[in-house]
Amino acid sequence: MIRQAQASIDYPALAHNFQRVRQLAPHSRIMAVIKADAYGHGMVGVAKHLPQADAFAVACLAEATALRQAGITQPITVLQGFQHRDELAQYAAMNLRPVVHQVWQVSALESFVGKISPWLKINTGMGRLGVALEQAVPLWSRLKACESAVECGLMSHFANADEPGHIINQQQISAMRELAQHLSAPLSMANSGGLVNFPEIQADWVRPGIMLYGSSPTRKHTAAELDLRAVMKVSTQLIAINWLRAGEHIGYGSLWHCPEDMPVGVAAIGYGDGYPRHARSGTPVLVNEQRTQILGRVSMDSIVIDLRGLMRPAVGDEVVLWSNELSVDEIAQHAETISYELLCNMKGCVAPG
Ligand SMILES: *Cc1c(COP(=O)(O)O)cnc(C)c1O
Repeated sequence: MIRQAQASIDYPALAHNFQRVRQLAPHSRIMAVIKADAYGHGMVGVAKHLPQADAFAVACLAEATALRQAGITQPITVLQGFQHRDELAQYAAMNLRPVVHQVWQVSALESFVGKISPWLKINTGMGRLGVALEQAVPLWSRLKACESAVECGLMSHFANADEPGHIINQQQISAMRELAQHLSAPLSMANSGGLVNFPEIQADWVRPGIMLYGSSPTRKHTAAELDLRAVMKVSTQLIAINWLRAGEHIGYGSLWHCPEDMPVGVAAIGYGDGYPRHARSGTPVLVNEQRTQILGRVSMDSIVIDLRGLMRPAVGDEVVLWSNELSVDEIAQHAETISYELLCNMKGCVAPG
């Protein structure tokens, strides 16, 4: 049978990466970030395979609702918070923790009858969600005084956690440290990059996403150096082998031409499946575990692969686009993007498990 492009999920690798987070942040509780369908890995499957997680984080209410419907019982933080005060009853009923980042949301909690454990999010340099630093103290006092508030926490988010030398990191760390000490508030600051690069701010809760999936969160280290294992393997197969002559061109735009008479393979995967169209000629792939490269532009359903020097390639051979042996971080570099985007784009190809 012809196999289509597929993404398979290695749950033992996921458990291993979770354990690595525990080792790296031994004094923090772990909120596993599984938004965007667990970065393309399948949100419910990932959540079910992380019973050891202290909590989960998702972007929106719909994701949290799907987790509850699937029987997930840990606390769930909703990173974008509630969009309307009517949603608060659902937050209370499903034990969801909203991130509060607008003043009207504090007012909504003040008039809500029910029990909620909100996070107050502060903008310390990301310039996305979060109240201004100057508003933090008065809003915290109002939240703490809410009848509805069971447990409150402070949250902020790094803008440059992947670049340990970036000046803004230290500004964000000291702002949040001072604030949390002053308010003696539980603190959550670190995403994957933060918890690896800035152990001093791991604080009460860490929020790892990308490293759970086995991709490196920092320019300083590869995933292998951090002892992280790839959770997703994307593979397909060769559907044709052709001999092209010296000077012949390959793909749309005729950007690549053969320097010699040579064998090329066509593999059944393209940007329609989630493989990045911007992956350049030279992007590595594995054919039967042998490393080779893409030639010419990525098409919607196929790519062309250099078969020179490979041992007896044949139609039906396995082609691996990324895996534990070929890091998605390397592919992301060749496609001028980040692993996060590549993983998220494979959403549709994950076999349910
Ligand atoms: C996505 C996200 C995370 C996880 O980030 P990684 O870099 O994947 O570890 C943590 N916190 C917030 C607020 C996020 O949006």
